[in-house]
Amino acid sequence: MAGVRPAPDYEVAIVGAGPAGAWAVKHLPPDTAALLLDAEDRLAADGQAKLCGGMLTEQAQRLLPELPLEVRAEPFTTRIEYHDLDNRIFGRMPVGYANCHRKKLDHWLLETALAETRARIEYRPRTRLLDAREEDGQVRLALDGAEATARCLLDCSGWRAAGRRAAGAPPAPHLNAVQAACKLERPYPYYISIFRSAVTPFFGWFIPKSGEEGAVGAAFPPDVRGSGAELLAPFLEHLQVAGLALTPVSFRGCRLSHPRYSRELWLGAGCVLACGEAAGLVSPSSGDGISYALASGKAAAEALRHPPQHLLRAYRQALRPELAELRRNMVKARLLARPGWRRVAAALLLLTQPAKFRRLSL
Ligand SMILES: Cc1cc2nc3c(=O)[nH]c(=O)nc-3n(C[C@H](O)[C@H](O)[C@H](O)COP(=O)(O)OP(=O)(O)OC[C@H]3O[C@@H](n4cnc5c(N)ncnc54)[C@H](O)[C@@H]3O)c2cc1C
Repeated sequence: MAGVRPAPDYEVAIVGAGPAGAWAVKHLPPDTAALLLDAEDRLAADGQAKLCGGMLTEQAQRLLPELPLEVRAEPFTTRIEYHDLDNRIFGRMPVGYANCHRKKLDHWLLETALAETRARIEYRPRTRLLDAREEDGQVRLALDGAEATARCLLDCSGWRAAGRRAAGAPPAPHLNAVQAACKLERPYPYYISIFRSAVTPFFGWFIPKSGEEGAVGAAFPPDVRGSGAELLAPFLEHLQVAGLALTPVSFRGCRLSHPRYSRELWLGAGCVLACGEAAGLVSPSSGDGISYALASGKAAAEALRHPPQHLLRAYRQALRPELAELRRNMVKARLLARPGWRRVAAALLLLTQPAKFRRLSL
């Protein structure tokens, strides 16, 4: 009949099957007809892992069932070392992080989501979203060699923010992260964060990954140029001096969303909602993004119970605790980026917690 718009192919299309997409799938309302697509295949053994440190914050752990043994990296519960090279301060303290293998985590999250969802999911791996247009209250999706329509779109495509860009919203500001997979001559049990403001206003890290493997990384403002080896050299040298006998085996780089102000987050518009890193939901103080991806994927899926005109409001409402936490982390990041402020904090820590903090003697 002329003038009658055909029903969309799907009630919801989810772009990206990382933590945000998987947790959206798991929490979709029962019987929802959903399309899940990902440019990669997160279930394939030969797929490339998302570049990540694989540290799960306490918030992330609360959102997850117990991690299977094969997903865990050792030491599973690490302690943190704080190396402030600007102020020559060393600290060692417990931290509630859990250590995991990121590729295995993504595989397990997606497998769990597909097994437990009560929605009707069509999963299309190795399928890229090329474009998305909102027309007459539906989203028209251009995929590799195909088209589809959906009543709404959840953009879970990470820093690439495919849906967010298609909706005309600029992506969140970012840093360029570099991480080296390293071989260790002997295991080192601590997660280390290294502050050296002449090299980066962010920080560098060492993360032990079971036995004689570890990752060394750092993130840099976009105008800082160099190969992975050149950029990480100051951190690798420091770690050698600190007693870690490590050899980088391979270097990889990737964007890390780095929102400094709430206005740089974008949760969606119309019938497009952005989740996880696509929304800019990454802590700018720690680089933690998995907890926000899980929480926002779940919140967006649950918001689908509401009529389209209330979708965004319901999503934003459900995400209020995470947004408040992120705002606190934005303030913390601005303070951590200033060596002068860290000097004041360090003086207090040396005074009040002498068992945990001391002068760095390296
Ligand atoms: C070096 C580094 C270290 C990090 N370390 C930690 C850490 O230790 N702990 C922590 O919590 N966070 C860490 N993060 C951040 C964390 O990795 C991200 O915030 C998290 O992966 C975001 O999850 P997501 O589901 O939003 O996106 P992603 O995990 O990036 O998943 C996005 C998915 O979308 C797919 N995709 C992208 N574009 C398209 C398209 N056009 N069409 C179809 N599919 C598409 C991708 O293939 C991918 O599978 C780190 C990040 C970096 C760069």
